[in-house]
Amino acid sequence: MVKRFYVDQYADRIIAGDRIVLSRAITLVESTLPSDQELAQQVINRLLPHTGKSIRIGITGAPGVGKSTFIEAFGNYLITRQKKVAVLAVDPSSQRTGGSILGDKTRMETLATNPAAYIRPSPAGKSLGGVAQKTREAILLCEAAGFDTILVETVGVGQSETAVHGMVDFFLLLLLAGAGDELQGIKKGIMELGDALVITKADGANYLQAKKAKSEVEQALQLFSKPESGWFPQVTICSALENKGINVIWNQIDAYFKLTHHSGFFQKKRKDQNLFWLHETIRQALLDNFFAAPAIKSILPELEQQVLDGSISPTLAAQKLLNLT
Ligand code: GDP
Repeated sequence: MVKRFYVDQYADRIIAGDRIVLSRAITLVESTLPSDQELAQQVINRLLPHTGKSIRIGITGAPGVGKSTFIEAFGNYLITRQKKVAVLAVDPSSQRTGGSILGDKTRMETLATNPAAYIRPSPAGKSLGGVAQKTREAILLCEAAGFDTILVETVGVGQSETAVHGMVDFFLLLLLAGAGDELQGIKKGIMELGDALVITKADGANYLQAKKAKSEVEQALQLFSKPESGWFPQVTICSALENKGINVIWNQIDAYFKLTHHSGFFQKKRKDQNLFWLHETIRQALLDNFFAAPAIKSILPELEQQVLDGSISPTLAAQKLLNLT
């Protein structure tokens, strides 16, 4: 049993930048115990005035595209610019408790040991909604602890990109050149989420291919309409291994923040995201309560079978269940 503190003890120590207490508070957020959840919410509420002052950057890309290597190079670069960097992840598929989490930490070795950086693996969880909520709350705690640049990595493929997009200010999409069709595996919908698209591993024999992929992606982007942010997504090439192109990416991100702060889009997006998460949290809680109700649990398998048999329509079955609550 991990030791628990009082709300003020968590809050004061986190504000003072105590990383051990920060980690413990994130553990509280991730806990499924109702008493821990209650405490976690009190701590977050108490810390709210100290949150929101960071920039939140989402980083996504197919497995093997070079996310960890990029985050390590990018994180170290940010630290040379006096930033304090927290790295969080969303991986709904992970029932993982060690595995690639430790793998990530070892891969981001220099970043993990840098006192200006904090790396926290993806919380475990069955539903994307649950995992995303924990990561959002971890963002707030990291901000209160003084981290001014939060990198949120998607490890899972598929839905998690949208969830991460909904919790960050800027979305970076990593793409790999030369893997057959350059854009293979990247759905148009995900491309549209990117504020910057980066062709990774632009070094050695890959360099020319990366440059070619860059113009192809640029062409593909021309088909998209201008985003609401007023910022047109930029495409760059980079080599995280050789530390090339990292500064260009940062300059773009910096330009995006200047533009959107000035236009008010940044503030509006944060507000919209908060409203969205309010609704999403309610939706999630209602669903969880519904499926956890004994009356539903006892009759659901039978109705499922009837739907499978075709003896009842899905709509009528759903109505019967909904009438029970
Ligand atoms: P992830 O699965 O997206 O996190 O990808 P990783 O960061 O683990 O990288 C996958 C593989 O690509 C590893 O073997 C890396 O060494 C390699 N890699 C990553 N970045 C670069 C790069 O900039 N250049 C080259 N040549 N290889 C890279």
